Amino acid sequence: MAAASLACVIFAIDLRHGVDSSVAVLYALVVVLGSMGTVQRVTWSWAGICAVLAGASYAWAYKDAPDFTSTYKLAFALVAIAITASLVTSRKRLVLAQVKLEDSRREQRILADSVPQILWGTDASGQCNFLNARYAEYTGISVDDAVRANSWVEPVHPEDRPGMLRLWLAARASGNEFRAHCRVRHRDGTYRWMHSIGRPVRSPETGEIVRWMGGLSDVDDEFKAQKRIQKLNRELEDLVAQRTVELQETRWRFRSLYEDPNIFVAEQNWSESGAILDDLRAKGVTNLRSYLLGNPEVLQACLAGVRTVDVNDAIWRKLGYESKADLVTKAPRDGVVDAVAALLPQLEALFEGRDYVTSTTALVRADGGRMPVIFAVNLMPDGTAYATLFDITDREAASELMAAAQQELARANRVATVGALSISIAHELNQPIASISVDIETGLRMLAKDEPDYDMVARILARLRRNAGRLASIVQQTRDQITNHQRRLELVDLTALTEETRLLLEREVVARRAVVKIRAASSVPRVLVDRIALQQVLVNLIVNALDALAAVPEQKRNVEVSVEPGEEGHVRVRVADTGPGIHDDVLAKIFTPFFTTKPDGIGMGLQICRTTVERLGGELHVTNLPEGGASFEFTLPAAASEMAEAC
Ligand code: ADP
Repeated sequence: MAAASLACVIFAIDLRHGVDSSVAVLYALVVVLGSMGTVQRVTWSWAGICAVLAGASYAWAYKDAPDFTSTYKLAFALVAIAITASLVTSRKRLVLAQVKLEDSRREQRILADSVPQILWGTDASGQCNFLNARYAEYTGISVDDAVRANSWVEPVHPEDRPGMLRLWLAARASGNEFRAHCRVRHRDGTYRWMHSIGRPVRSPETGEIVRWMGGLSDVDDEFKAQKRIQKLNRELEDLVAQRTVELQETRWRFRSLYEDPNIFVAEQNWSESGAILDDLRAKGVTNLRSYLLGNPEVLQACLAGVRTVDVNDAIWRKLGYESKADLVTKAPRDGVVDAVAALLPQLEALFEGRDYVTSTTALVRADGGRMPVIFAVNLMPDGTAYATLFDITDREAASELMAAAQQELARANRVATVGALSISIAHELNQPIASISVDIETGLRMLAKDEPDYDMVARILARLRRNAGRLASIVQQTRDQITNHQRRLELVDLTALTEETRLLLEREVVARRAVVKIRAASSVPRVLVDRIALQQVLVNLIVNALDALAAVPEQKRNVEVSVEPGEEGHVRVRVADTGPGIHDDVLAKIFTPFFTTKPDGIGMGLQICRTTVERLGGELHVTNLPEGGASFEFTLPAAASEMAEAC
């Protein structure tokens, strides 16, 4: 409005006073006023209007006779208007550019401050001249202070500074990109790993480095994770290397097994059968064997589910196949003589989670023959099974031979025993026959008297009957031993048997002026034994004790037979005497056949005693008593029924 008014005033004056006033020059002011706060186009519009107005007033004043001066003034005014318009627009352009520059700077600053990285800049000499606000946020150090003191590396960990400086100097010397990892102190006092990249900024014209710009990113988590991964990788590599060595060693070790012509190796896959077993387990089957035997179709499905994956060369060659494939393609259940006997234990192991089975079976040869093997199977959790088999054809043949040889030996032994037994019979029969002859003599003497003691004769006859019975038993037993007949076992009360034996030996005891005492516990379980054989043991031990007593004075000739319950369901019988005991040299040989220290001895008694006790499941031992004398002690297992009753 002010510009329009001024233009009108100038136009009016110009019309009235003509060129003399030179007022048209003032149109330049109109242009300035009109341009204020407007765009460039408006400036030139005002310039145009002013030019038209100046031209109009000139035309009006000098329409008839334009002179040089007026024309010159008009031209001057027009030039002034044009120059003013031009200056005004130039200035406007300049201001606009400045505003834009400022905006751009502000934008840049906002941008620089909003990125998550620390940005930095230096001049060409490396002097820091820029840090974004993130630097202060991160380190807690004012950006201005850091820039002013060129101390922006101060929060870098002292240990990392030399390395970083080296890289920075190298980058500056070469003009290449700078990259470094370093720990930077966070405002909370902790150091965190950061990655710094810096690049040179070159002058487009000269190509010279004018400054350096760069950034620091927090890579602490990644760096530590990477370090951990590197450590893990190293550990893993070490482990792999170690395992590889072990594997290599194992491979070599197993290779010798794999290539051994006598060891057969097979790899099988049991996963299909394993799946069937899983179903059965889920169904609640607990006793697999009885279930499968009761459900043959499931059993067959399980057996059919076993596949051979691989075998070593030794096995297919030994079985007489043409190639490995011939054996591998054969179902394992068809490869053994008795599939159920061979594979069922493995199914059971799989079912019960056991990983090892060993047994014997016979493999079917290519020609239909059989090859006995002993095998061990390792079952893996994934259903793979490794079977190692060993050919025992020779061993089986050898054991058959051995069984035959043993039979022959047993027969020969029995024959040999006859010889030994005939000696022992003499030993066993000796005592009852001697007793019988003495009793007959005594009986005859009694009867020859005028008034025979019939009670005494009756007692002698009773003893004769017992001894005759014993002779018959001994003969019977001897025959049994020779023909190896099974002995008749019966439940025997040891206390009663001991009593009975003492009665049998009554005459010997009296003749040797000795005393035989029986000490029996109140409750002794009975034993299941061959009664005659056991009585023979007691007779032998007591007669030996009586023999030993010959060396001591009459008043010291005591034999004690004790019967009592022993340990762990056994019954213990001890025959102890007050004789001289047994010398150490004798003690070592006492159970040896034919060892005797007696002039009329045979040396078979103790050997027979020990064999008899051991055959009845017991043990016989001898010790010297501390107070003098020998003690023979044997144990026998109590009869099961007696134990049950005792319980
Ligand atoms: P024999 O009685 O025919 O000699 P045995 O086998 O019964 O054969 O005994 C072997 C030896 O053991 C006897 O000769 C004797 O030296 C010794 N012996 C056995 N029992 C006793 C004992 N109670 N005291 C001392 N020595 C004994």
